[in-house]
This record gives sequence, C-alpha cells and structure tokens, in this order.
Amino acid sequence: MNCIFCKIIQKEIPSTIIYEDEHTLVFMDIAKDVDGHMLAIPKKHVKNILDCDTETLHHLMNTVQKVSQHCIDCGYDGVNLLNASGESAGQSVPHFHIHIIPRKHQDGIDAWPHFNGALTHPEILFQLLKM
Ligand code: 5GP
Ligand code: ZN
Repeated sequence: MNCIFCKIIQKEIPSTIIYEDEHTLVFMDIAKDVDGHMLAIPKKHVKNILDCDTETLHHLMNTVQKVSQHCIDCGYDGVNLLNASGESAGQSVPHFHIHIIPRKHQDGIDAWPHFNGALTHPEILFQLLKM
C-alpha cells in the first residue's frame, strides 16, 4: 500500500519515534510548525475515524492518553488533540492520526481554529444533527 504512515510503521522511511507498542505508534510531525508536534497512529491502516473499528479506536485513544499524561510528567500543563477526518475537514494523509500538541501556560501557541462565525440558525442545525 502506498501510504506514508504505513511506511513509517514498517520503518521503510525514518521517523522520530516517541512511543511504540503492538497496536500504535507515536512520532514527531515533520512540519516543525509548533514545538512538540506529535502524531499518534494505529498500526492497522484505517483512513480516519469514520472507518475505524472500535478496537483500533480504543488502542489509539489509550495511547493518546498515555502520551498526554507523559507530557504532563515532562513538565507540560496540558495538550491539544487535533484530528481531521475527511478531505473536507482538511485531512491530508489518509491514515488515521491524532495530532498531539503539548502545552504550557502562556506558551503563546494558538492551536484553536479561527472560525468565521456561524451562518445557519442553531435550531436548523440542531434539527439536522440531533440523533
Ligand atoms: P493532516 O493534515 O492529515 O491532519 O496531518 C498530516 C500531518 O502529517 C501533517 O502535520 C504533516 O506535517 C505530517 N506528515 C506528512 N508526511 C509526513 C512524514 O513523512 N513524516 C512525518 N513525521 N510527518 C508527516
Ligand atoms: Zn496507512
């Protein structure tokens, strides 16, 4: 499969591995866009949360929690967890990944998306989205 993250898992291309276990891998993002930017991925190739089975999701989120706690143990105060599922959401690599960004008080990092303001009445969206 021509998937860059599968190649990272297979060690066919190098990465800076933070954590690895039987089901998951966490490595540094190559972007150098923010300090400490990590990616947590399942070793099983699934595209995103929409096609991820419960067991794989469980393994991935366990690892995300473990690494997040590790960040706190290393002296950070919190983490941002980011995910894009689907091209419309901005997903650029089609192998499920959670971005982990360690945070400190007043670190000056703006990790929250800048929205343009809601366009549709909340009641209409509630009727559309309620389950
Ligand atoms: P997305 O836009 O899909 O949410 O995030 C994909 C992320 O993968 C980006 O932050 C990008 O920098 C990272 N990335 C893409 N290719 C590589 C690579 O070969 N190695 C590493 N370590 N990260 C990569
Ligand atoms: Zn893959």
